[in-house]
Amino acid sequence: MRKYFRCGNLFDGLGDRMKPDQTVVVEDDVIAFVGPTSEAPAAAAGDEVLDHGGAWVLPGLIDIHVHLSYGNAQANEDVDMFAPPEFRALRAMHAAGKVLRAGYTSLADPASTNRVAASVRDAINCGMFTGPRVTCAGRQVTGRQGLGDWYPVWIGVPESSVGVLVRNLDEAIEEIRTQVKDRMDFIKFAVDGLQRNGDGELMSCFSQAELSAMVEECHRLGVKTITHSRGREAVLYSARAGVDVIFHAFEMDDEGLEEVVRNGCVLSPALTFLVNTVEFTRPSDPCHRWRPNMNRKDVEVASEMLVKARKAGVPFMVGTDSGFAVTPYGEWHARELEIMVEYLGFTEAEALRATTSVNSGLLREGNAVGRVVPGAFADLTVVAEDPMEDISSLLRSDNITHVYLGGEPVDLAPTADFRPYNWEHSFRQWNDVYTRERVAELAH
Ligand SMILES: [Zn+2]
Repeated sequence: MRKYFRCGNLFDGLGDRMKPDQTVVVEDDVIAFVGPTSEAPAAAAGDEVLDHGGAWVLPGLIDIHVHLSYGNAQANEDVDMFAPPEFRALRAMHAAGKVLRAGYTSLADPASTNRVAASVRDAINCGMFTGPRVTCAGRQVTGRQGLGDWYPVWIGVPESSVGVLVRNLDEAIEEIRTQVKDRMDFIKFAVDGLQRNGDGELMSCFSQAELSAMVEECHRLGVKTITHSRGREAVLYSARAGVDVIFHAFEMDDEGLEEVVRNGCVLSPALTFLVNTVEFTRPSDPCHRWRPNMNRKDVEVASEMLVKARKAGVPFMVGTDSGFAVTPYGEWHARELEIMVEYLGFTEAEALRATTSVNSGLLREGNAVGRVVPGAFADLTVVAEDPMEDISSLLRSDNITHVYLGGEPVDLAPTADFRPYNWEHSFRQWNDVYTRERVAELAH
């Protein structure tokens, strides 16, 4: 039995425009034919015809930056410590379902505590659960005072941390080989340090020689590499090392951009995290009041260089850093597209290509996802409004009318929101502490 998808308008993930009146024929879970309805093979008795004549059909969307194990974290302690790994895996499966129902049929998880993301990936692939196609890293490899080494030295980096600390090149190589044995799809390096030098610049926590040797070992073993690099130095070192995908690149300079171009690196900014922090957070904790203002400046600085990078022809992949409280699962995946159009000058078609056929370059399935062509999996997202007219429409759940995974319809009914579990998040027991004057004031 074949399935015939009649599409009022189809975006194939590769082109520049919507094609009207198309038919997609699916055999098993794979696309057998795509073309104008007038040229489609005739449906035989028993074939199923699904009519999306009044809709817009897209390749299943892809977010390459979803941290399934974080649980919409509010603090580093939530990321690393609270909630046991077994609970995290179950919670992550719930999160993966939310991503899928938002029209995202594939995701990459670029840093996971324990083996949470890989377990979700494998359980879905075994057919135990319905979920998006998952490609993942393990714990991110970090150097001293790098992202992940954020607790005081007398605590160190716990086993449960999303970061794994390597103190020298030998330890790094051993960690890379261990993660490859553990069947991680790619290796993530936290290259930025947490501290700035005298010139106010973020320092890289690895030297050029160390990073180059680590990336070379990954490539020898056949796994791709991603770095967390917002600072100038981290971007430059990553590009020179030939890293496959550079996350953030907010403080990249012209020299860094030149190396990015020369070495064929891909950029993936994840500006959603910053823009959401600016627009939706007002930290009451005085230690963090600076953050929204700093992030506003970050967005300004980043946009200038990222526009240059786009003009220089650098490919962009699309990810949102979902899994934090400001970027909850299932809510903001299309926000990055909106930001790329609004801040970075992408056309809607360019942004849609980036989140489909460009993003697929990182995934296990490669060219078999992110495009509607014969031979690809029949992963389709059907929407009621034309995203070329208004890319923001992809953010509205009522606009996502159907999602197909390998030609099978996904149940889009939202699951009930779960109650908070005591150990799921860190918490401050005395949050808003009042003065006696304030209490007296409230009494009146
Ligand atoms: Zn991230």
